Amino acid sequence: MQIEYQTFQLIKRFALTISRGTSAGTTNVWVRVGADGYEGWGETAPFSWSGIHQDAEITIKHLQQLQPQLESLHPLEREKIHQVMATAHMPSGARAAVDMALFDWMGKATGLPLWKLWGLDRETTPITSVTVGINEPEQVKERVRDWLEHAPGCALKIKLGSPKGLDFDRSIIQAVKEVAPADIPLRVDANGGWDLAGAKEMCDWLADQGVTYVEQPLARGQEDDLIPLRQSSPLPLFADESCLDRADIVKLADRVDGINIKLIKCGGLTEAMGMIKTAQACGLQVMLGCFSESALSIQAAIQLSPLAQTLDLDSHLNMKNIPFEGVSLQEGRLLPGDLPGLGVKKGKDL
Ligand SMILES: [Mg+2]
Repeated sequence: MQIEYQTFQLIKRFALTISRGTSAGTTNVWVRVGADGYEGWGETAPFSWSGIHQDAEITIKHLQQLQPQLESLHPLEREKIHQVMATAHMPSGARAAVDMALFDWMGKATGLPLWKLWGLDRETTPITSVTVGINEPEQVKERVRDWLEHAPGCALKIKLGSPKGLDFDRSIIQAVKEVAPADIPLRVDANGGWDLAGAKEMCDWLADQGVTYVEQPLARGQEDDLIPLRQSSPLPLFADESCLDRADIVKLADRVDGINIKLIKCGGLTEAMGMIKTAQACGLQVMLGCFSESALSIQAAIQLSPLAQTLDLDSHLNMKNIPFEGVSLQEGRLLPGDLPGLGVKKGKDL
């Protein structure tokens, strides 16, 4: 197969602030594999926390190193391709982009969208949440109003864990509740911004505010503290930064209620499917989430979305430029479409 790759820029409509910092744009990588007259596409986006760092430069370097070995294989030889990437310790984002492209190729070669190839029922796709970052209360209200206009029917995922402390976090929730309709589902992601005492206090308070779950209350590395937190918390707990792949699920099974799977974090659709089965076996709920991704890799996650209980696939809805297009929101849901493969097309800005 031939493999090609290039970077592209995404500019956010609203800069997003979480507990670790602010992002107004991103440089992602577009990967294309070609064979037998068909071309499959994949994408990766940067992410970093607790000593993990991946970006476009690192992705391109690894793709260049493995290009001769990868090009000696056919897109249907996914197992061999994954062995090559694992042996070379290729970062998860680069592996994810290649894996997505292989599945996109297979869907195009067979003329079927992936959800159909996998036998999934798209009607079970849950609504997605859209993200409200950490900000002053007036800016939070402006962000919520914009989402209510542009993404009706979605849940709101509110970023907390502000370095300004728990009172500031409470002011964000109060601002959201001033402008959001009472029946809109509210979810919270602290991105590891609390300590155990603060997390206990906030889980109690957020339950009273009608929030439905809390994601990554404690930083990666503090998983032992999830045990007492879960014993006291009236809200379900989800792991994101603490859960990279299948191996982490087994370690977390007795201390969280669900896991957030991201294709770029775990290494692609192949590993994500393994994670979903592992989570089901451990009795954990599955959320599918994203980094600062375009519609290309969001479309890959959408193909799996009928298997998730919770979706957080909104990054492409916060981009000014549109390099790729996928399905549009229908009453809060991103239903997998009928185009083959990932179901993604070139957008007006590519
Ligand atoms: Mg998260």
